[in-house]
Amino acid sequence: MSGPKTFDQEPEFPGAASGDDGDVQQPEADLGLTRDGLIADERQSTGPLGGPASPRDEQGSTALPSQAERVTTLQDARVVLVSACLLGEACRYDGRSQRSERVLAALADKDVIPVCPEVASGLPVPRPPVDLRGGTGVDVWAGRAVAVERTEGIDRTEAFQQGARLALEAAQRFGATVALLKEKSPSCGSQRVYESGQLRTGEGITTALLRAKGITVLSDEDI
Ligand code: SF4
Repeated sequence: MSGPKTFDQEPEFPGAASGDDGDVQQPEADLGLTRDGLIADERQSTGPLGGPASPRDEQGSTALPSQAERVTTLQDARVVLVSACLLGEACRYDGRSQRSERVLAALADKDVIPVCPEVASGLPVPRPPVDLRGGTGVDVWAGRAVAVERTEGIDRTEAFQQGARLALEAAQRFGATVALLKEKSPSCGSQRVYESGQLRTGEGITTALLRAKGITVLSDEDI
């Protein structure tokens, strides 16, 4: 069976962050990613990829595409940004992969851009698990929430934001307007993420950035 065609990842991550414990958060003004700013940004532009305005623009609301709409968008896509762990890369915090045969089948006729935002930022494998605190990914970009190691409480917000920027850069470089990412991850989650140990509705840090820039994000649980 032929699998997805995978782009070489080397060029996507020049200048990856060192993964230190820096606690400088990206000012929200830099990316315009306050919750209100997120919506305003999308309403004003056709997005950095030059594609159509997001469904949020067209509907004048914050509604995300339905599951059916997300799946249709994936089916129509030629190039897809994908969480590397879903493809079999052992890049999870616990050193394992999350290979999904369903994901591989869904990507069989696509060009695939594998990304692991956390590893791209310079964080190691394995690494301590990280939780969102104070909100979800959108709140992190707005400066209202942080990403911290679950046990030691070390702030990893800056590294997670850097990984998100590198994932966005990869998507833009290869013209991907769709991303298929791992659900529940503090970086890649798109419907549900853990916040302060509780699973709640919301998106991870990478997903929040991709959506703000007009990229449709769906998860392995959507297909
Ligand atoms: S969910 Fe995202 S950040 Fe976590 S291991 Fe997979 S690709 Fe990396």
